[in-house]
Amino acid sequence: MRDDLRAVAVVARCGLIGLDAWPNVAAHLVGLGHGGDALAELAAVERGTTWSELEPLVPSALAELGLPDLPPDEALRVALGLVEDPMERWAVLGRVVDVLPIGVGRLEVEISAHAQDCPVCRDLDDPQVRDLLRSRSALDLDSGLRAALTAGL
Ligand SMILES: [Zn+2]
Repeated sequence: MRDDLRAVAVVARCGLIGLDAWPNVAAHLVGLGHGGDALAELAAVERGTTWSELEPLVPSALAELGLPDLPPDEALRVALGLVEDPMERWAVLGRVVDVLPIGVGRLEVEISAHAQDCPVCRDLDDPQVRDLLRSRSALDLDSGLRAALTAGL
């Protein structure tokens, strides 16, 4: 099975992309034959549509996709598969562990001195974090959808 909907599911669940990135993502999903009227409506919104107009469209469009509910470790693998750059991977990891129970506590993305004193937070030098960041996961994603998703990160 292609990873398109799995990637969208993880991005939606972890809030990895901005609200304004969703119309472009929706347009690619429509092009791939997904969704129904709500997704098509989201795909068609004009640039400059206000936040309050856009906000209610996203959940109804996502509801049409029948997104899979991935286990946390699988969701993390998919999220990290979206980005190559080490700093982007670190930022994505930080956001995923805030939402999903990955078992690495919190990541301190900004202040490494805090992580060294805090019993909960971990930084880049933590071995488990380093292993996660080094792990490679190739996703089978439509290239346009991948570009739309990563542009919104
Ligand atoms: Zn802390």
